[in-house]
Amino acid sequence: MKDAVVIGAGVSGIVAAYTLKKAGFDPLVIEKEPHIGGSTHTLREDGRIIELGVQSVLGQEEFMAFTKELNLKPLHPPKEHANTRYVYLNGQLKRMPSNPAEFLTSDFFSIFGKIRLLREPFIPPKDDPKESISDFVTRRLGKEFLDKVVEPFVCGIYAGDPDKLSAKYAVRRVKALEDEYGSIIKGSMKKKALGPQGEITSFEGGLLTFLEKMASGIDISLESVALKITKKDDIYTIDTKSGKIQTKSILIATPAYSASYLLRNLTWSMSAELDQIEYAPVIVISAIVKHPLPKGFGFLIPRKENTIMLGALFSSNLFKICKEDENIITIYVGGERRKDVADWPEEKILSEVKKELKKILGIEDFEKYYFKKWKKAIPQYNIGYERFINTVKDIEKMNEGVFIAGNYIEGNSFNDSLRYAMKKANEQILFLKKGVVHAQI
Ligand SMILES: Cc1cc2nc3c(=O)[nH]c(=O)nc-3n(C[C@H](O)[C@H](O)[C@H](O)COP(=O)(O)OP(=O)(O)OC[C@H]3O[C@@H](n4cnc5c(N)ncnc54)[C@H](O)[C@@H]3O)c2cc1C
Repeated sequence: MKDAVVIGAGVSGIVAAYTLKKAGFDPLVIEKEPHIGGSTHTLREDGRIIELGVQSVLGQEEFMAFTKELNLKPLHPPKEHANTRYVYLNGQLKRMPSNPAEFLTSDFFSIFGKIRLLREPFIPPKDDPKESISDFVTRRLGKEFLDKVVEPFVCGIYAGDPDKLSAKYAVRRVKALEDEYGSIIKGSMKKKALGPQGEITSFEGGLLTFLEKMASGIDISLESVALKITKKDDIYTIDTKSGKIQTKSILIATPAYSASYLLRNLTWSMSAELDQIEYAPVIVISAIVKHPLPKGFGFLIPRKENTIMLGALFSSNLFKICKEDENIITIYVGGERRKDVADWPEEKILSEVKKELKKILGIEDFEKYYFKKWKKAIPQYNIGYERFINTVKDIEKMNEGVFIAGNYIEGNSFNDSLRYAMKKANEQILFLKKGVVHAQI
């Protein structure tokens, strides 16, 4: 019998298994796909590195500490590219201001938009857990800031709809500035809290290198779908396609809808609740082009431009991932605003994307492309999200030895998932060592 089983080999599952292993346990990881990674999906082909999922990770503390521990050399893009970002506005790529002074001095905002920004420190704070990102941003910074900056940015992070996303859960760092300092501008000046929280990072061989290095030496069963969890006398049995596995403790690191299905025999109604978490679809197209790319990181597109594209990254500006005479542009399509596109056939999506790219960058055709449809890509931290967090807590409380991690609990990014998986693995270690029940989330 295994002390610990981890279900899912994305960043959450691999980090959890690595943490357990470091503490002296010998976890088994069960993964349904023939490879590890989950939404970290790196292809290495013809001397190119193609990222069809996670593109890069911000070099935050815990991630960089692992990088060092694993003896990996982090790669960062040149500053002139990392700090130059665009928004597609009224048929043109406009450079987005990169610091507060530029917001006021560049022509990115109208004079009314700038005056509205200056009023922000004088607007009283409000505590409304049901406020959407749109309402929060319009109230504090004005509609122009919402339309030109936040709405495209929210598309970039969540592929989401700011009218539905919860300010409290989806932009918790920014909302916390209002709660703590009464103003986003005052708070960010005091805490230097806005802007990127770390350098954009990848590795030789792409982001999967990080997870591969971490996973080496861990017992991983690939192409092994976990189907059901049952419990008898404090022992859990996991039914998989290839047989039954018994264990004292399980860390579930799958998306919410899979966790819901797995947990149905332990907690029927609560686990059904997890299946209610909405996911936005995203289609990723990584295109090899001969056309030169503008300087910079990439661009985002506000919804009023009516495109199926959400934006694109100038990937080959950031890291050396292709041959000298070509470039790679990574295009994102769909999201909440164009959910319907996820049901289109590949050729139709491609043909529409090419039309849009021709208008935006003059790119007419691709030398080659790589295509991936993520039908349930990103969990949406929508208004009322608290109920899902409470459900996760309740499921864990009622099932000693079950721990739940994943990007739908304390933030969606790679860093958020990594941090939360470490936290849950440490609780699992405590449980295994002392029989101590769950710490509070
Ligand atoms: C297209 C895309 C681009 C992104 N880009 C970025 C980015 O650039 N930077 C960033 O910080 N974040 C990005 N993210 C978000 C972030 O990185 C992810 O949220 C994070 O990687 C999630 O990791 P996870 O391990 O929690 O889940 P996942 O990566 O979804 O892994 C879950 C794993 O569980 C497995 N599984 C599911 N059900 C079962 C089962 N029944 N039995 C066995 N195995 C099962 C799955 O196959 C999968 O491998 C992106 C996400 C997507 C989808």
